[in-house]
Amino acid sequence: MSYVHAVLSAVPLLKREWNKKQRLLLQNAVRNTLPKHRAAACLRHRLGSSAVTVSASTSGATRLGGLMVCNAFHICPICHHNKMEQEKAMLADFVTKHYADGGFMVDAVLTIPHAAGESLSDVQSRLELVWNSLRSKAIWRELSEYLGIVGSVRKLEVTLTSNGWHPHYHVSLLCNWAHSRGLRGFNRQTVLADAHAQVAASWARAGERSGIKVSLFAQAAVAIVAGVDAQKAIAYNAKNMGYGGKSKSLTPMDLLRVVDQSTDPTAVCAARRLFSEYAAAVKGKHALSYLGTARVAKSKLSGKDKPPAASEPEYVRLGTISGDAWNAVVKAGQREAMAQVMTCEELMQAVLRAAHFAGFTFIPSGWLTFMPESKTVIMVKCEPTSIPSLVLRV
Ligand SMILES: [Zn+2]
Repeated sequence: MSYVHAVLSAVPLLKREWNKKQRLLLQNAVRNTLPKHRAAACLRHRLGSSAVTVSASTSGATRLGGLMVCNAFHICPICHHNKMEQEKAMLADFVTKHYADGGFMVDAVLTIPHAAGESLSDVQSRLELVWNSLRSKAIWRELSEYLGIVGSVRKLEVTLTSNGWHPHYHVSLLCNWAHSRGLRGFNRQTVLADAHAQVAASWARAGERSGIKVSLFAQAAVAIVAGVDAQKAIAYNAKNMGYGGKSKSLTPMDLLRVVDQSTDPTAVCAARRLFSEYAAAVKGKHALSYLGTARVAKSKLSGKDKPPAASEPEYVRLGTISGDAWNAVVKAGQREAMAQVMTCEELMQAVLRAAHFAGFTFIPSGWLTFMPESKTVIMVKCEPTSIPSLVLRV
């Protein structure tokens, strides 16, 4: 059985949730698969000798400070999710402005033929070649003038099917009626047909120019996005390497789910092998790429002039854990619980479980400090199975 068929056989049993707990479990699967990758240390290794601060927001989020964050956006489920949330908010901002200025969007899915057994890096190289050819002066200028393109947002997505790796681009072309020379249809259908034909022709020409055959199906998914649907489309574009996936099409997250959930050693081994191939192939690639007005808006919104985000949750520090305590937390498998604590009591319980695992019947002195800092836990005596009451020194 091929690697692909081995993982596909495990798919019907997968639970495909996408919450913080699941992301942490999938991050453990990354560590299991790529133990030397920096993602294996993410939210696990402390920064130097610093203590770990634990904070919670009123919106139900927990933040662990003083830990390494890998920023491997294609690989690490936690960092990927955080990055996509940021980008989604930013995209929503400038797409709203784009529509307010009389713009519209043309969405396209651009891909190339591939076969089972081909390496991802080979298929991806071909996709990049065709994209670079599309961006060559002659082809891009003609397409831009026809549609009135003023910017674009391109998302790289990689899935795996029984027909091999399927890397593709979801592209939102930001267009403006005033700049468009070609879209002169009388109704929505005519305009859509014209836009479709032009994108398909440009992509086919780009393939021809780079010596790569592009099938007509490859760029069939072209849509003109109405104002009301724009936020939906951009949210989809910013989504991720795949929250859900389908039974016949696996996302990189699904490969991690197989590693985390499957009891079939053949499927787990195949998923690890395929995820490693994915990680090597996407190294250094951008999940989202911006052009034109989108790039300008992005640099403004992510630069020094960035306005304060209204939706940024406010965090309240619950407490601080010493280095020794954090090491015990990780060894005891309490990292996932710690990353979700919302109250001082939950924080204390997680540290206590770590203390028990390390052989203590109480939380050792100095392991846990609640906020404000003058309140220090000096002694928490208990039986390993019971929840203690706290003794605080104020
Ligand atoms: Zn990370």
